[in-house]
Amino acid sequence: MQFDLIVTGGTVVTADATFPADIGVRDGKIAALMPSWPSDEAGHAQSSIVNRQSSIVIDASGCYVLPGAIDGHAHLQMPTGVGYTADDWATGTRAAALGGTTCVIDFVETEPGERLTDALTKRLDEARAAVIDFGLHMTIQPDEHPIAGIPRRVSARRVAEMREAYQAGCASFKLYMAYPGFQVSDGDLLRVLRAVAELNAMACIHAENGDVVEVLRDAVVDHPERAIHHARTRPPANEHEAVTRAVLCAELSGARIMIFHIGCEAAARVVADAKLRGNDRVYGETCPHYLTLTEDALAREDGRLWVCAPPLRPQADQDAMWRMLASRALDVVGTDHCPFTRTQKDAGAVDFRRAPGGVPGIETRLGLLHEFGVRRGRITLNDWVRVCCSRPAEVYGLAGKGRIAVSYDADLVVFDPTLRKTLTAGELHSDIDWSAYEGMTCAGWARDVIARGDVIVRDQRWIGRPGRGQFIRRAFFGETRPVDV
Ligand SMILES: [Zn+2]
Repeated sequence: MQFDLIVTGGTVVTADATFPADIGVRDGKIAALMPSWPSDEAGHAQSSIVNRQSSIVIDASGCYVLPGAIDGHAHLQMPTGVGYTADDWATGTRAAALGGTTCVIDFVETEPGERLTDALTKRLDEARAAVIDFGLHMTIQPDEHPIAGIPRRVSARRVAEMREAYQAGCASFKLYMAYPGFQVSDGDLLRVLRAVAELNAMACIHAENGDVVEVLRDAVVDHPERAIHHARTRPPANEHEAVTRAVLCAELSGARIMIFHIGCEAAARVVADAKLRGNDRVYGETCPHYLTLTEDALAREDGRLWVCAPPLRPQADQDAMWRMLASRALDVVGTDHCPFTRTQKDAGAVDFRRAPGGVPGIETRLGLLHEFGVRRGRITLNDWVRVCCSRPAEVYGLAGKGRIAVSYDADLVVFDPTLRKTLTAGELHSDIDWSAYEGMTCAGWARDVIARGDVIVRDQRWIGRPGRGQFIRRAFFGETRPVDV
């Protein structure tokens, strides 16, 4: 068989297994996976496919070869009160690729009165600059019965439009239980989840009790410039309560739900308990910032840079997040990449309530989880691949991605554990002038990245074509598939 590309000599790491193998790629797909166990006395691997013809050969000796990482949660070019998030589709997806991510799921934001599929068309036009494949979650927010100019209810028309959005490839719907203008009532939450269940779709939920948060925030009078108020006004119990309510509504409706950005142990336990009850349609995501940072960052004088919601938590919660990943209580690690420049973040310099919420992370996820998870012994190599690469494909309905197996998309990362990367704004590629991880060093980084058979990163340098990313239409077919190699 003639291949377009061969990756040889590496150690393939999947969600279940670690073994030496060569990979042959043809027409953008994995065409052969040939184990290459050491076969002579000196322990040299006897390569099984390297002698066959191929135009490109990548020597992955000494490296791990992983399925391309999938980031189920990013906010590129998103309109906010301080302008757009700082990465557009070109810079954001290029930064993702340079960190080993070959597919990202972003969002469609909708205006009241705008048809969901019209909003999707607009968003797809913006996303033409994407350099890696992408999916889109469709945001559902109140669109009728305005009080003081803010819509308070999700209209029946909006709920009816969800079918069309699903058929257009947006298989998941984002709901906010917090933020004025976005927050849905409990009644609307249940109504939308019933529609989600009927469509066999998914709801992705921002779970915080928004009413409680607003009262606590309004009550802050002393030293409003201190960003630590952000954590104090969004306590873990608040997140725990909202996740409990979301899971209740999921169980009443039968909907498949993903609880986004879980940062505290109490909230993660609600997802774990649902799984223990046998509910295999309740999923949980945590993010690199909850796994590597604590609320101490918010206590800094420039703590506003680390304002995100839910907020960073104490060390005990960070430790719990690792355990929850290792035990599979939580399913995936998504970045919630939501980058703002220092100037944009400075909107919160005199009052924490004005700081735009979000931290960057689209490029650093694989490296951080390898350093702080695998190398520190908190998760295994296979856990790392499961939560960053394979499980996201399963839970978000990305058929043909997330596995190293014949006929799957040739999305591959050659990860070199001997590379050292210091995380500074200058070394990273997001279009911002700071890093949430400034000064941290990761041993191990993505060296080469292959996306649908194209080598897009070689020796940590971007060499891909602009705008090569494709919109992936997602769908769910019955139960999720089990992971295997
Ligand atoms: Zn988000």
